[in-house]
Amino acid sequence: MAEAVLKRYAEYSTPTVLEEIRVLVDELKGLRIQEINSTRKGGGCAEMLTSLVAFLKEIGFNVRWDVIEAEPEFFRVTKTLHNFLQGKGGFSSSMINIYWETLKRNANVLSDGNDVIVIHDPQPAGLIEFLEEERRRRVKMLWRCHVHLETVPLAKMKEVECFLRGLIEKYDAAVFSTFHFLPLWDVVSFVIPPFIDPLSDKNVELSQEEVNKILSRYGLDLKKPLITQVSRFDYFKDPLGVIDAFKKVREKISCQLLLVGGGASDDPEYQAVLADVRRAAQNQPDIHILDLPADSHREINAFQRASNIIVQKSIKEGFGLTVTEGLWKSKPVVAGRVGGILLQIRDVWNGFLVSTVDEAAERIYYLLKNPKVAEEMGKRGREFVKEHYLLPRGVRCHLAALHQLINGHITSKRTIISYHPWIPLS
Ligand code: UDP
Repeated sequence: MAEAVLKRYAEYSTPTVLEEIRVLVDELKGLRIQEINSTRKGGGCAEMLTSLVAFLKEIGFNVRWDVIEAEPEFFRVTKTLHNFLQGKGGFSSSMINIYWETLKRNANVLSDGNDVIVIHDPQPAGLIEFLEEERRRRVKMLWRCHVHLETVPLAKMKEVECFLRGLIEKYDAAVFSTFHFLPLWDVVSFVIPPFIDPLSDKNVELSQEEVNKILSRYGLDLKKPLITQVSRFDYFKDPLGVIDAFKKVREKISCQLLLVGGGASDDPEYQAVLADVRRAAQNQPDIHILDLPADSHREINAFQRASNIIVQKSIKEGFGLTVTEGLWKSKPVVAGRVGGILLQIRDVWNGFLVSTVDEAAERIYYLLKNPKVAEEMGKRGREFVKEHYLLPRGVRCHLAALHQLINGHITSKRTIISYHPWIPLS
């Protein structure tokens, strides 16, 4: 069975990576893994877990994926925490009660008989407090952080110290997407970049016929150049900035903008953001706003493939799988000069890094006027993603980290183990 999945992904990997997976499968034989997060659909973490868990099962691991259950009030608190960690707003101790009450109710999600439990993001991080001492001794706990962990200003340090730091230091190790997010905490840290699945509905090749059909179904003009941003409706993704940039471009050249998003069940802010976006796009026939169900993968795939340019003008970004997806589809990407995007875009090489609306507008206009450059950038983007950010490599890094945790001889809590092949320049 393991060989079947490795064969299916062979063209999206290298013999070395596949061989490393085989060795790790052999050494970790029988390992029981549990992955826990806060939503099964919507957002990058769910996207990765869907493919990772299926792959791990197919190569023979006993792996389960569980999701915590919570009321909207809990997600309002954790979204505030998420915003705070990304440098916006505050986080008060009064919110902490709701957090603990909810996690206490979810304590039984920690299933028995696991060798490793991987907990994703801040929402379920506190579950570690509900493992009795005896069980805690028998299981390795890993926390994977998918958010853009901002360097906390000294003035706010105490709030984080009290809460997240205290929790994460109880884990055996943590995983961060980039070296830049490593916090000053005493926890063994792995640096592992995220990945996309080239064979998922989101990324698999589509026929031109299917692409055209989907575009027509949603009222897009097949002949007009298309600029697309795919994102949850979240202020950190700066959809309003994208609209402003598009309006500037539209004054000079005929084109259309598609902002496609949706909600995640753990993101309570999206209705408010969507309302703002709709207001900003009012009376603009070339701006299309789509609010799609979280499993509209083939639709999003088609929009990305039909686009001349992919935009991801984030203000904060843990990694930005939407950037990876655009690059994989050989598109030039115009993206915010922030966070995990710096692991993916080399300015003027496979896209453009931008910090302002004017910069975004200039670069989009330039790419529309210079399709040969756009094509060249797109080619580089695809090769780059193939080398660094596809599922087999992600599986290899995940297993390598588990192997280190179980069999390694880590002696200091300040150990950093990087599986990222290079450090970005800016
Ligand atoms: N996505 C989606 N539907 C949407 C918006 C986003 O399927 O309406 C997907 C997108 O294609 C990507 C993931 O959700 O795979 C978003 O991951 P990313 O890392 O870009 O951002 P996050 O939402 O995790 O902050």
